[in-house]
Amino acid sequence: MSTQSDNRFQAIISHAKEYGFVFQSSEIYDGLSAVYDYGPYGCELKKNIRDYWWKSMTQMHENIVGVDAAIFMHPTTWKASGHVDNFSDPMIDNKDSKKRYRVDHLLEAYADQLEEKGEAEKAKTILATMDALLAKEDYAGLKQLIIDNNIKCSISGTCNWTDIRQFNLMFDTKLGSVTDEADTIYLRPETAQGIFVNFLNVQKTARMKIPFGIAQTGKAFRNEIVARQFIFRMREFEQMEMQFFVRPGTEGDWYKFWKEERLKWHLSLGIPAEKYRYHDHVKLAHYAKEACDIEFEFPMGFKEVEGIHSRSDFDLSQHQLYSKKKQQYFDADVDPTTGKPYGNYVPYVIETSIGLDRMCLLVMSNAYDEETINKEDGTTDSRVVMHIPEKIAPVKLAILPLTKKDGLPELARELMDACKGSFRCFYEEKDAIGKRYRRQDAIGTPFCVTIDHQTKEDGTVTIRYRDSMQQERVHMSKLKSIVLEAIS
Ligand code: ATP
Repeated sequence: MSTQSDNRFQAIISHAKEYGFVFQSSEIYDGLSAVYDYGPYGCELKKNIRDYWWKSMTQMHENIVGVDAAIFMHPTTWKASGHVDNFSDPMIDNKDSKKRYRVDHLLEAYADQLEEKGEAEKAKTILATMDALLAKEDYAGLKQLIIDNNIKCSISGTCNWTDIRQFNLMFDTKLGSVTDEADTIYLRPETAQGIFVNFLNVQKTARMKIPFGIAQTGKAFRNEIVARQFIFRMREFEQMEMQFFVRPGTEGDWYKFWKEERLKWHLSLGIPAEKYRYHDHVKLAHYAKEACDIEFEFPMGFKEVEGIHSRSDFDLSQHQLYSKKKQQYFDADVDPTTGKPYGNYVPYVIETSIGLDRMCLLVMSNAYDEETINKEDGTTDSRVVMHIPEKIAPVKLAILPLTKKDGLPELARELMDACKGSFRCFYEEKDAIGKRYRRQDAIGTPFCVTIDHQTKEDGTVTIRYRDSMQQERVHMSKLKSIVLEAIS
């Protein structure tokens, strides 16, 4: 990360804390690494993003329904899914600092440094060699690559490395009252499996016909080996996943459909297209047919925000094998080549999986702006503003009576009562109006409205737009529809 990007990232993290978006978990005890809490504005933003995703996936697609599965699942689930045996990353420890690194992160960070020094070709070669070695699971070769390039631990500054080992990312705990007799269970590392094990329950109760999808949002847990990446990589995070069940043979078209559809969702928030790109996977899991990431240009560079995966019938077949219960669908549609119904089969799956916290970071990084304002008298001023899309802004409308007296608060309260049932409003009487505007800019409120003495005479108020800072007078009765139109 260049110093400039690093400064911007640090500024966003400080702003998130200062204005009640994100706090370090248990901060009074010095925090818990890679775990975060959302404050008053952060939790509104997160909820709005979740609702926006949920609505666009379920309400707007008639063939997608939801589930809300438990975090704890039968331990065999994770045997069947492959997580017990394979959900691990190659790790390496520095013997002097005792710091543990994910091997790919260590090499990627080194490649970033090379790029910054203008050695892009060398960086590319290292990453290509790394990909090839990872694909072969050649850990001795990967360690040699680290040693040959003299890659040092950022804490000890030495190259004194252990051998590379696999490290499972799942957290386990015990179910039951007596620890000795209790069964080991896992905190789910993804929400997807709660969808797969409920496939037939949902299909039958909601009478779904293929192709159809099941959506779910919820917490997931991974014992990530992390460096300071704020809410980009957390140990407890939230996912928004959708599994789309299709007839075998149609998965290619559906993969293409969801790949485009998901990018459209991101762009529908008004975030510039040039900040996004696809990254098609070269190294695929043995069962996967195609996979890609939607990447966003975060302050630390282009990084994954969402994955789209064509997973064949792997998950349902595995659950069929381990549970000994058929996970099949009877397709009564007629196959034109045989003239007979397609009959029973285990459906293929296209998965879309996005991290809600990563999406919050995406929105905050895209929104954060330190602006210089040229004033009419020739002087300049500055402001920090969050250009959060109106639809998902934590507060939509700030209602600000100019003074605390002369009946202005009463009029403002009337407006508040008329609007607060429809969207999140904020009421404030204290401080000069300019100061109040700045505070709303900092939390991304798209509309502020000032009630002044003229309001008493003709019922008009001053509406002030966050992004342009333009102000205009409108009748108080129009405000609700102005805001509703902008956020719908
Ligand atoms: P990465 O390569 O960044 O570890 P992944 O490929 O393991 O991610 P998936 O398993 O495909 O991620 O999970 C889907 C989505 O969940 C990711 O695109 C990301 O947005 C989110 N996600 C995954 N791990 C984390 C985490 N530790 N913290 C926050 N979000 C995460």
